Amino acid sequence: MKFISTRGQVPPVSFSTAVAQGLAPDAGLYLPEALPNLKPFLQEWASLSYAELCEAFFALFATDIDRAELRGIVARSYTKFDHADIAPIQQLSDELFVLELFHGPTLAFKDFALQLLGNLYEAQITRTGKPISVLGATSGDTGAAAIHGLLGKVGVKTFILYPDGRVSPLQERQMTCTEASNVYPLAIKGSFDDAQAAMKTVFEDQDFAAEVGLSAVNSINLARILAQCVYYLSAFFRLPEAVREETTFVVPTGNFGNVLAGWMVQRMGVPIKGFRVATNQNDILHRLFQTGTYKLDAVSPSLAPSMDIQVASNFERFLYYAEDCNPEKVREIISTFKQTGKYVFDTFKSDGITSSRTDDEEIGAIIKRVHEQYGYVVDPHTACGFAGEFDGPQIILATAHPAKFPDTIVDSIQQNSTHPSLETLKQIEPVKYAVEPTPLAIKAFMRSH
Ligand SMILES: *Cc1c(COP(=O)(O)O)cnc(C)c1O
Repeated sequence: MKFISTRGQVPPVSFSTAVAQGLAPDAGLYLPEALPNLKPFLQEWASLSYAELCEAFFALFATDIDRAELRGIVARSYTKFDHADIAPIQQLSDELFVLELFHGPTLAFKDFALQLLGNLYEAQITRTGKPISVLGATSGDTGAAAIHGLLGKVGVKTFILYPDGRVSPLQERQMTCTEASNVYPLAIKGSFDDAQAAMKTVFEDQDFAAEVGLSAVNSINLARILAQCVYYLSAFFRLPEAVREETTFVVPTGNFGNVLAGWMVQRMGVPIKGFRVATNQNDILHRLFQTGTYKLDAVSPSLAPSMDIQVASNFERFLYYAEDCNPEKVREIISTFKQTGKYVFDTFKSDGITSSRTDDEEIGAIIKRVHEQYGYVVDPHTACGFAGEFDGPQIILATAHPAKFPDTIVDSIQQNSTHPSLETLKQIEPVKYAVEPTPLAIKAFMRSH
């Protein structure tokens, strides 16, 4: 299996190359050159454990990695989860389910991809003997999950940019209280989009990338999308058979990475009913799905900070398929959007994906209502999934553990939500570095470390 860029200006590459590079050299995002049909495997896969399912799925893509090695990489990646099902389902009512994706080491869904990515990197460094520098930008959870995926990996240095003061104090502690010597949390003055824009420019400097062995962990890395596909499969198999093919997956969304993974699984022939994109008040995607216009707005800090994003980088992958796999059209749309902050689609092919928007006031009300109605506590990101009226069975992806956002939870239900792993962090002295959000300053910092 080879992987192509959404912008079509580089030759196809192997799985390992796509994972090592993160962003393609033409600034596009990697995708499989053809999506496999999963239908023939569904019966056999239905009874596999999470790790077995993950291995079977990845074997279709990571064709340049030996199967036994792949098995080891996958097995190691799901040992730090605190639930035997890895991604358990809670049933709240006849037609309402929650897919709990917060049982990993940083208590957010990004652990699913980043634990695996850390082990893929380690295997690659062992194979090539070349050290790498990982650079990422985070609105909170990615950075923490990346750092924990790469902790203690020999030959890896991890640099994570995050907007100072705009991630939750506990998210910041997960990044800055690791006591690891190969981890550099970089606090920048600005928004997540500023951090991401600076990071993208650093990746476009190919000489620098080669010099430091640059690699990405943002949701643009292909391995992350594929790792996230697995819990959609696992959830599909665990839903009661009677509603399995009638259930809509509701996905709290920022960068569009999570929902893209589910949508790709559907495109690979798994009979998932459909998806709803659930945004917070940063609603560029909601507006797009409602109006067909993709228009940039200012980022407005919210109670669900990991979704405080306007430019949804993974949207480019969806666009590639929506525009009939035409990279020229993708380049035109991205370039118009970059220059004018807006793109108006003649006909936007939403492929049945619907959307909703939840502002801060509603987030608090929803946390309260869900607690009263079902005795279940949701975090502010997951709360966005509970917006509006439900039409038929729904499974809402719970993207973070509520204990990561204690202030919002106390304000909403007058009760604490705690988790032992977070209590331990409060004993450790944080280490972070202040850096300007410019490509020059970031490169200088990385060179000197
Ligand atoms: C990252 C994150 C999201 C958004 O995921 P995307 O892949 O960016 O759409 C939602 N909730 C939480 C808790 C997150 O960490």
